[in-house]
Amino acid sequence: MSAPPPIAMLAELTHRCPLSCPYCSNPLEMVRAKEELPTEVWVDVFAQAAALGVLQVHLSGGEPASRRDLEALVGAARKAGLYTNLITSGIGLTPLRLDALEAAGLDHIQLSMQGTRPDLADWIGGYRGGFERKIAVAREIGRRGIPLTLNAVMHRHNLDDLDATIALALDLGARRIEVACVQFHGWAVANRAQLLPTREQTEMVKRKVAAARAEYEGVMAFDFVPPDYYSDYPKACMGGWGSAGLNVTPNGTVLPCHAAETIPHLRFEKVTDRPLAEIWYESAAFNAYRGTDWLPEPCAGCERKEIDFGGCRCQAMALAGDASATDPICAKSPHRARVLAALEEVSDAPFTYRKLG
Ligand code: SF4
Ligand code: SF4
Repeated sequence: MSAPPPIAMLAELTHRCPLSCPYCSNPLEMVRAKEELPTEVWVDVFAQAAALGVLQVHLSGGEPASRRDLEALVGAARKAGLYTNLITSGIGLTPLRLDALEAAGLDHIQLSMQGTRPDLADWIGGYRGGFERKIAVAREIGRRGIPLTLNAVMHRHNLDDLDATIALALDLGARRIEVACVQFHGWAVANRAQLLPTREQTEMVKRKVAAARAEYEGVMAFDFVPPDYYSDYPKACMGGWGSAGLNVTPNGTVLPCHAAETIPHLRFEKVTDRPLAEIWYESAAFNAYRGTDWLPEPCAGCERKEIDFGGCRCQAMALAGDASATDPICAKSPHRARVLAALEEVSDAPFTYRKLG
């Protein structure tokens, strides 16, 4: 099957992270430090990605600052011609390290925010003192003029603070805010009953983001990931499987999306075993759900199939037990009842915090 080249690569440099967010998209089985790719392999991966057509690399984790060679990796990605975006909790980014990252040519920082108050943010992130440190890092980023996006992950416990979240992003000088309602992959599946927003919150967030987008036009841009359990249609996950982006995990496994390893019958290859371009164009896993030819009914005959490609394969796996099924978020899915049942399972039980083994 022919495919366009990828535009973006998510480089998960490490799964180590000082925080333990209960919605973390990392897999339940995480990669340990001793299995992480060494510096020189990542440098080669960046060069291969640029040659393949990738324009942007998102340096992520875990917490990428847990890697002592982060500055060298940013420099290597820039040298390969990639736009570099650092996705970080901020913990570990000292002023000295920010100086070094700036010198290495870092283009942009996406800083996660768990809440707008220390009590809320530190409870959600499972890290006492994290909020104060994050704010200090955000001020250092602002002082340097590095373009900043505030990544606010929203759910039942912090959606009512949306106004304060937007105000905080403006105060920190963010050029963009991502209002990202939790998607149920990775650790979020284990905490779904604690995190699912209410229907009222879902309507409120849509309304407020639309109003704020208009009010702050030209000041701060808004990205919005709505809570999809209340939607009638699924999202076009990753813009379509194997169509616009790829992920490389800390041990070099190449995935079409961060949750793809939850699909048990697919075999994912490593950059240490095969060139990135061959994996992208030729591997069975990347071709498994490309395009629309493989779609089952009702998607095969649906007018939206070129818009959402039948939704998310990992969500179909998680909710229907079949990665090739119509995403159960869709109102036309024969498995839609599982989504409706999940909406009834609200719980105030303690979080299952993410932990590395
Ligand atoms: S979601 Fe939280 S625990 Fe997961 S990598 Fe980001 S900051 Fe760390
Ligand atoms: S039936 Fe399939 S293609 Fe149509 S809207 Fe639902 S998920 Fe999308």
